[in-house]
Amino acid sequence: MSEVLSLLKELIARPSVSPFDAGCQEIIAERLTRAGFVVESLRFGETDNLWARMGTGPVRLCFNGHTDVVPPGPIEEWSSDPFTPTERDGYLYGRGASDMKSGVAAMVVALERLAASGEADGLALLLTSDEEAKADDGTVRALRFLLERGEVIQSALVAEPTSVSVLGDICKPGRRGSLTGRITVQGVQGHVAYAHLAENAAHSLAPALSELVSERWDEGDDFFPPTSMQVWELRSGAGASNVIPGEAFVGLNFRNGPSSPAKVLIQRTEQIFAKHGVRFEAVWNASAVPFLSPPGALAEKVASAIRSVTGIETNLSTGGGTSDARHFVAEGIETIEFGLVPVAMHGIDERVRIADLERIAEVLFFVSA
Ligand SMILES: [Zn+2]
Repeated sequence: MSEVLSLLKELIARPSVSPFDAGCQEIIAERLTRAGFVVESLRFGETDNLWARMGTGPVRLCFNGHTDVVPPGPIEEWSSDPFTPTERDGYLYGRGASDMKSGVAAMVVALERLAASGEADGLALLLTSDEEAKADDGTVRALRFLLERGEVIQSALVAEPTSVSVLGDICKPGRRGSLTGRITVQGVQGHVAYAHLAENAAHSLAPALSELVSERWDEGDDFFPPTSMQVWELRSGAGASNVIPGEAFVGLNFRNGPSSPAKVLIQRTEQIFAKHGVRFEAVWNASAVPFLSPPGALAEKVASAIRSVTGIETNLSTGGGTSDARHFVAEGIETIEFGLVPVAMHGIDERVRIADLERIAEVLFFVSA
């Protein structure tokens, strides 16, 4: 059996719902110690982090990932138990199969093989058991601890599942940000037949909203598509056809690139409302800040490793949600995310294509050698 597959099965069998590691890191610590790595466990709060490194100089490449998974949801809807790894039709089923125990297993096996061939000097692995939940005591904290202690990390690869159709088609040098706005428009409620005594909140909102939806926020750039805005909720009305609504609500969500920071988007949106004379209150939440690691030597290595293992040319994209890659980027470390094609990640019947497991380990081997 593939070594990656057998380690992946062991990891899936441990129900490591955030922030609990459920013994995943223990298996990995034992294996990497045997391979010659110096392994430390860094526990902060309820979160287990693992740091494994080879050699004493600067870390030329640090692999990163998480051993935690999201809850399985209604277990009766799964075709097999989410924590019993099950092979079916070329796929391995189980919670974490895509996100991201397969990536973790591939990184560990690649590191073992690199150690065996004497090429692991300057390589490291940082794992956390909390990426999916609060994540305060995870990668961000462990990384800060390591850097403050004097570790030097030159580049980082996060093996989150970034591929879309086939292994290696997409890598991510960064991610877009996310900004949510909840805007309540105030009017004066009244009788439909006596409109001059009221102020229709829906009517006040309409022209501003029309301008908002046709606004071009930016043009995007080489790595980021133009910033997009979507209305996710729109409501008004007192529930009667003879009542003018005194209030209207619109929910907005922006997916933004670095050329339109949250502060700028908030300002521009509120200016549009103000220009139309709308009385409103806005509550904003920037849940993710956009980040980009300008592609350099590591991105080139990853592209060439993907080419030699899979024969395809990879593309750089910044789509999808956020990830721990941002913490490395914030420290000025060249970072890339590369991983498998996820199937039903966070969903029912999460699975991964078995045939890709050895191939991703092979790519990771070539990237690090
Ligand atoms: Zn993940």
